[in-house]
Formats: sequence, C-alpha cells, structure tokens
Amino acid sequence: MIVCKFGGSSLASADQIRKVCDIVLQDRRRHIVVASAPGKRHDSDIKVTDLLISYANAVLSGYEGAQERGAICSRFAGIAEELELERDWYSFVSDDLDRRIRLYGGDSQDLTHALKAAGEDCCARLLADYLQALGEDAEYVDPLEAGMLLRLENGQTLVEEESYERLAQLRRRHSIVVFPGFFGGDRSGRVRTFSRGGSDISGAILAAAIKAEVYENWTDVDGVYVVHPSLVRDPEGVREITYTEMRELAYAGFTVLHEEAISPTQLRGIPVNIRNTNNPSSPGTRIVSVRDNYDSIVTGIAGSKGFTLLHLSKHLMNREVGFAMRVLSILADLSIPFEHMPSGIDSLSIVIRSHNIPAEKEAIVVHRLRTELGVDQVSVNRQIGIVMIVGEAMAQTVGVTARAATALSRAGVNLELIIQGASEISVIFGVREAFVNYAVKELYKEFFS
Ligand code: ASP
Repeated sequence: MIVCKFGGSSLASADQIRKVCDIVLQDRRRHIVVASAPGKRHDSDIKVTDLLISYANAVLSGYEGAQERGAICSRFAGIAEELELERDWYSFVSDDLDRRIRLYGGDSQDLTHALKAAGEDCCARLLADYLQALGEDAEYVDPLEAGMLLRLENGQTLVEEESYERLAQLRRRHSIVVFPGFFGGDRSGRVRTFSRGGSDISGAILAAAIKAEVYENWTDVDGVYVVHPSLVRDPEGVREITYTEMRELAYAGFTVLHEEAISPTQLRGIPVNIRNTNNPSSPGTRIVSVRDNYDSIVTGIAGSKGFTLLHLSKHLMNREVGFAMRVLSILADLSIPFEHMPSGIDSLSIVIRSHNIPAEKEAIVVHRLRTELGVDQVSVNRQIGIVMIVGEAMAQTVGVTARAATALSRAGVNLELIIQGASEISVIFGVREAFVNYAVKELYKEFFS
C-alpha cells in the first residue's frame, strides 16, 4: 500500500485537483491520500491556511473578518463549481467555520487550532466528493475518529504513540481513504494542528502506521536538487538520498520535507518518494535508510547565513581541566544554544546562530569570559555564513575536503573555519556571510560541472 500526500500547490485549483485524481487512480496501491489545504495558484495568491489564520485573528480581536471568511468560502466554491460538484460549497464551508467558532470560541488557542484545520478538512472532503463523482469508491476519513491522537507540549504538537496502532486499522478499508493532513485531536477531543507544513507529518505518521511500501510526497518540483535552483540554473537532481544526508542538508536550510516528518518513516525504514504533481513521469527523489547507488561523491551542497563566531584564546588553555565546560555553562545560564565548537591548543571557537545571541547577551558573555575565566582574547564575528558539502560516499573517498577547500581558495573565499563531523558525511566551511551563495556556486562547479 502507498500513502500519497499532496501539498497545497497540488490542490490549489480544479485543474490541479484533476491531476491529483489522475495520479491517485493510476496506481491502485495508492490507498491513503493525504490532502493539504489549497495553496497558491500564482505568486501573489494567498494560501487558504494563511487566510484562515487571518480570519482566526480577526475573530479573536472581536472583528467579523468578513473579507477573509468570504475569500475562504469563495475559494472552495470556485474549485467545486469548476469540478461540477453538486453540494453548495460556499454554504458548506461557511457553516463549517461557524460550527468551529461555536465549539471552540471560548478559548483562543483552541479556536486558532480548529480554524487552521478547516483548510485541510474541507479540502479532503471536496477531494473525496470529486472522486465519488468520478464513480470511484473513495471516502473522507476524519482524523479525530480514525485515531490521529496528538498532544500539545511546550507549544509543540506531538503524536501519541498509540495513534500508530489505531491508524493501522485504515489498512482494512476497501475504499480509497482521503485523509486531511495537518491536524488530529487530543485526548479531550479538541482539534490540534501541527506546525506549518505539517501535512507532511500526517502523511509520515499514516505511512508508518499502515506500514506503507512507500510514502509519496507530491509537490511542485521534480525532487531534491544537489543545490538550490535559485543559485544554479538547472542543477542536477538527486535520485536517492539517505535520511542522514537529508538531516545534514536540512541543517543548512535545504527544506524538502518537514523536519518532524522524517522520524516516523525513518524509524520504520519506509522510503519516501518526493514527486512532482505537474510532471508525474519524473521518478523524483527517494529518501531511504541505506543507499545502493551513488551518482556522485557529493550528494548535496547548501549554504546558510546568520551565524556568529565567538573566538577565545587563553595561554595554556589545554591544561585547564573543565575550561570548555565553564564556557558552555555561561552560555547555558543565558539560554544560548551553540552549534559547533572546534578547538585549537590554546583557543576555542564557538559557532552560534546570531538570533540566539543578541547584542545584550553578547556583551554579558564577553564580560563573563574575561572576568570569570580570565580569557586573554575574545573576538566576535557576527557576519558568518556556513556552506556544507554532504554525501555518504565522502566517507570512503580520500581528499574531498582538500578539493573543496582548494576550490574555495582558488575563488578567493577565505575560510574562517572548517568543521568535519565524526560521521565524515559532511564538511562545513565557515565563510563571510556575503560569500555564502558564491561559495556554494563554486563548490557546485567543482563537484558537478
Ligand atoms: N496548510 C498547512 C500550511 O500551509 C499545512 C500544510 O500545507 O502542510 O502550513
């Protein structure tokens, strides 16, 4: 069985929905279809979820939110009309929004969750209606009834373990299951949504629950590219990538799947296939636990800005027991997470995301390092970016770091630091922020041209 999730752009219009249905019906193993809310039809369009968030804010501030509400209802009504569906979709969506306000209006958090979920919920109902109108045996399934049990913890929505067993029952349904993404319900039956982009997570949970042979994630690109297409024209695509490589690349801003969508499928060894709704003949990218083919030594190159480099030195630092621990406890006192900590003999560098160390905190850290730890020199560089090369094949290949460093030096990019993780599947170069994109392009030339 296959679980296939369609993103907002795949469900943005009647035409897109027709494509989705063609894809679903082409392979009868596609048993569960997970729907997002209709996304943008063009650049200046507004996603239904964004309209719902504005609507929730308006209602919570005591306004009617008539404009947002009208836009949401018309959006569904327009799609339904083009698909020649019988139901009055404008009234259906409007009544659905009223019902949510009646049920949840007393609590601002609950109401926001419930209204945000309406986009996926109505979209899944509409999709099921259309499949039925085509004469197909398809049914809408309510996540709260099916057992998508969630809980809120420190502002984050997490899945309860027992959801997997409950949702496994969906294997038994004979019809095509159309399941709204992005939400479930807590133990008291209140609607809970995941963070933005969370339909990916719903799909991953369902794929894990029914032990799907593959979790297809349909979007509007052919898959993962070795480098962001905004930096290099027509970059090469990645046929296969491991979960570990994905995680490394996601660190530097490579976003393909929602981060929380990785673990449900990874833990159960279910491959994910990123596919393009607008180009279904492309095989897309497979995310797997173990790779059998390597097209190149480097799988992906990514860059990210917004890092701060704290460099400290102290004579005979290496002999001082507990020095690094005391540095880190100063950071911990100020709730500053750190990213990397390469060290020399008498020096230590700490890489921190700049937004985690605003100027006030920086001043306190520097002061405490000098006064409490007697550090000789502290320098702070707030304009650091990182570029990363990632690939499991790198671990078995000699000289990849040297090749990358040479390419960067040839291009005149000064390296502020180099970090190679113990796993040897990635190397991170710290460069001046202004050089990040240029450095990524130079590395692409080196490894792919
Ligand atoms: N519709 C939600 C969002 O825009 C969830 C999703 O599309 O995955 O974030």
